[in-house]
Amino acid sequence: MKRIVVLGAGFGGLQTVLGLEKQFHKRPDVEIVLVNEQNFFLFTPLLPQIASSYINPRHIVQALRDIRGSRRFRFRRDQARAIDLDARRIELTSGPLDYDTLVIALGSRADYFGVPGAAEHTWDFKSLENAVVFRERVLDVLEHADHTEDAELRRKLLTFVVVGGGYTGVELISELHDFMHRYVAGRYRGIPPSEIRLVILEAAPEILRGVHPKLARHSLRRLERQGVEIRLASHATRCFADGVEINGKEIVPSLTVAWTAGVRAVELVERLPGPHDRIGRAMVNEHLQLEGHPEVFVIGDSCAAMTAKDAPRVAPVAIAQGRIAARNIAHRERNEALESYHYVSQGVLVSLGMNHAVVSIGGIQFSGYFAWLFWNAVHLYKLVGFKKQIQVTLDWMLGEIFPRDSSIVRRPVGCKLCGTPQTKSRTA
Ligand SMILES: Cc1cc2nc3c(=O)[nH]c(=O)nc-3n(C[C@H](O)[C@H](O)[C@H](O)COP(=O)(O)OP(=O)(O)OC[C@H]3O[C@@H](n4cnc5c(N)ncnc54)[C@H](O)[C@@H]3O)c2cc1C
Repeated sequence: MKRIVVLGAGFGGLQTVLGLEKQFHKRPDVEIVLVNEQNFFLFTPLLPQIASSYINPRHIVQALRDIRGSRRFRFRRDQARAIDLDARRIELTSGPLDYDTLVIALGSRADYFGVPGAAEHTWDFKSLENAVVFRERVLDVLEHADHTEDAELRRKLLTFVVVGGGYTGVELISELHDFMHRYVAGRYRGIPPSEIRLVILEAAPEILRGVHPKLARHSLRRLERQGVEIRLASHATRCFADGVEINGKEIVPSLTVAWTAGVRAVELVERLPGPHDRIGRAMVNEHLQLEGHPEVFVIGDSCAAMTAKDAPRVAPVAIAQGRIAARNIAHRERNEALESYHYVSQGVLVSLGMNHAVVSIGGIQFSGYFAWLFWNAVHLYKLVGFKKQIQVTLDWMLGEIFPRDSSIVRRPVGCKLCGTPQTKSRTA
């Protein structure tokens, strides 16, 4: 029996497993094992809408056992801790797992660029759990600001900073803006909308790098018109429990700072032997194989790097690489020539909140309401599972009619200052 192990059930890993099923469906001698630390697939593009209580967190995940259905691959909910390439063995939390062929599709982690205090005091926005915790943090500070009379504390409570003006940062601040003005303004009577401050810090001289300049400018102007402060050429140089320092000079007081500024490879990938790029991604050949280990494929925009032109860090890259990895594993089995991966852009879609988006596809750029409808249609189509598609559609429709859900599941945990939880942990 030969065993193919796929580590990671995100966009890349899931696509690999589905491809392997097709390639090996008549090969009972080949075992396919998918390992992931959660037992669900997360549709990350809709994470910002969790922060704004627009959609229900459970609606953007699909249980892996449901995705599997009658397919024969095995799923193991576990965490990979080490990979021994020479012994062809993975150390999982529950014990070792041997492989003949390995696909590493472990995604990314936040890159704090060594900024002191960033890891401890900012909210990372990469997982469902983090998005849920961040949503509750936003609601927590609003609950406090509603009755606090201390002016300085109110300023800190009502200033929301997003570090990073890329796709995620812009979508997140747009969602927060929607939430503040569509919901908070009417329900929290102690919070005048004029006191709410939304800030984006971007180290580059522009936001949305990589997006068509016309659309990036359009997004900037729209956000500014909405009252979002966009601080360009502004590096977060230190982070504190109650603020963030910009360019080593100014401090923006805030109790809620989200970090979307950068990603790097996960530690397991950084520890792989052989060359890596500046964000820790393993260098692979054009067939996505690790140097010196043709039986190991590394895929995904944050795990694998090639010497060729760098691809953007978006899901279509991981999906395309997952498909090729699956086919190349089959080609190796049959002693056939392997396929090469080449990046092909599939366009760019950025939501600027309810009723507005910017889209660049096939050389055409457009923005506004129709771009937003297009954004919705594409994301709905890509969401895994018909039930989830219905649930998200209903969330969106109900969001137009009814108020958002601002309930906080946790009980309040007091701090000396104001009763606002000072830790990022859900269970604090
Ligand atoms: C908030 C946000 C919004 C985004 N919006 C968009 C968008 O609109 N469009 C777009 O194209 N891209 C978007 N992206 C980027 C997109 O999510 C990534 O490009 C894509 O997820 C990469 O796929 P992947 O398979 O490489 O990694 P992932 O999808 O991250 O999957 C990695 C998997 O590995 C698992 N894992 C990690 N470590 C271990 C371990 N040690 N053991 C076991 N399992 C492990 C993780 O739990 C995860 O399930 C967004 C990302 C974020 C965070």
